[in-house]
Amino acid sequence: MKVHLTPVDIIRKKRDGKKLSKAEIEYFISEYTKGNIADYQMSAFLMAVYFQNMDFEETAHLMQAMMESGATMHLPDIRPPKVDKHSTGGVGDKVSLILAPLVAACGICVPMISGRGLGHTGGTLDKLESIPGFNTDLKIKRFKRQLQKIGVAMIGQTAEVAPADKKMYALRDVTATVDSIPLIAASIMSKKLAEDLDGLVLDVKFGNGAFMQDYKQARMLAVAMVEIGRRTGVKTVAVMTNMNDPLGVNVGNSLEVIEAIEALKGRGPRDLMDVTFALGAEMLNVVKIKGGRKLLEEKIANGAALEKFREIIEYQGGDTRVVDDHSYLPVSKKKVRVLSHDSGYVHEIDCFAIGMLLVKLGGGRTKKEDSIDASCGFKIYKKTGDYVKKEMCLAEAFGDNRAKLQRVALKLKQAFSIRKRPPKQKKLIREIVKY
Ligand code: URA
Repeated sequence: MKVHLTPVDIIRKKRDGKKLSKAEIEYFISEYTKGNIADYQMSAFLMAVYFQNMDFEETAHLMQAMMESGATMHLPDIRPPKVDKHSTGGVGDKVSLILAPLVAACGICVPMISGRGLGHTGGTLDKLESIPGFNTDLKIKRFKRQLQKIGVAMIGQTAEVAPADKKMYALRDVTATVDSIPLIAASIMSKKLAEDLDGLVLDVKFGNGAFMQDYKQARMLAVAMVEIGRRTGVKTVAVMTNMNDPLGVNVGNSLEVIEAIEALKGRGPRDLMDVTFALGAEMLNVVKIKGGRKLLEEKIANGAALEKFREIIEYQGGDTRVVDDHSYLPVSKKKVRVLSHDSGYVHEIDCFAIGMLLVKLGGGRTKKEDSIDASCGFKIYKKTGDYVKKEMCLAEAFGDNRAKLQRVALKLKQAFSIRKRPPKQKKLIREIVKY
């Protein structure tokens, strides 16, 4: 199909709230991937989509164009069912690090393609790369070989798979165009549907640490992705999870790897494990593998999941000593304790602020070329609904620059609101949206 519009015309059309055709979307994405459309034009396009939205048809075309910007995998030689999981992004969300080896230990193939930190949320790739030597940039051939050998591999969008998403994702992160339903849906599904999956489980987050804070918006995002999956023949399920508290205790790249390893050793905090098991059970369910949570718990108790994680690290060139000795992971030695200014109940925690404070410390990006400091982060000891006494430790902040750390710790304190009355408790897992 011929496109008569120039890139500027396409940006203008979207800016003015008009519907783009499949050919226009395909053209814009493929020319951008080839480098014929500049980052500043893509930034304007993203902002136009952000304000004017896209309907379901446009979103599906955008997803397809992004997926077709690179290679799509064919994994016919892999016998076990192939299932992946993806989160819409949260604070302290290290679930993928636990779930990929855990589900692989149950006999499912997990060809996981993840993202980097985005806005205030952390990314699986940045976390994995805090393991010395860990390579998330495998060529497809090596990715496939690893899947055949150990049933799981964890990589990022490469120049081969969904390269349009790789470029757009980095731009969105620094142009305030992340929290858009069509952009998130197309970004996630373009990576995931390139993997030749049998099933896909999405962790769609809502609450103050999610991109879609409002439940209704988050649910609309879930429905859009489940529908894209269904139309593409991939059984897709979305688990709606609450992101009004950081997930688990640790926030920050290395610190989250440590918590994930501890979780694989059976020492994970309750909220983290509840979300992990809920998603894991759906990953088994979606391809009709029996066992559910009990099977997942067994694989943690008998060490199979931990061994699988060790294998992933080994196959991807990382230092496997991190599994037994966390001192091989970079964690800042300097820390500041954050004490409660009052006695009462933790009424609310501003997770968005915590995510942004991590960025400020260097654990996330403000420009797409920024490098990440894996060693900084937080330990959040108190959660919504906990009772605290004045001067009790709410959290700790880790970072190498003492002055910056003091400033951040002060702000971290302000992220906790303490009141005399207990808050209404909210469910961690609110709903499961199915195909
Ligand atoms: N995760 C992704 O892969 N893309 C988004 O846009 C948001 C979260």
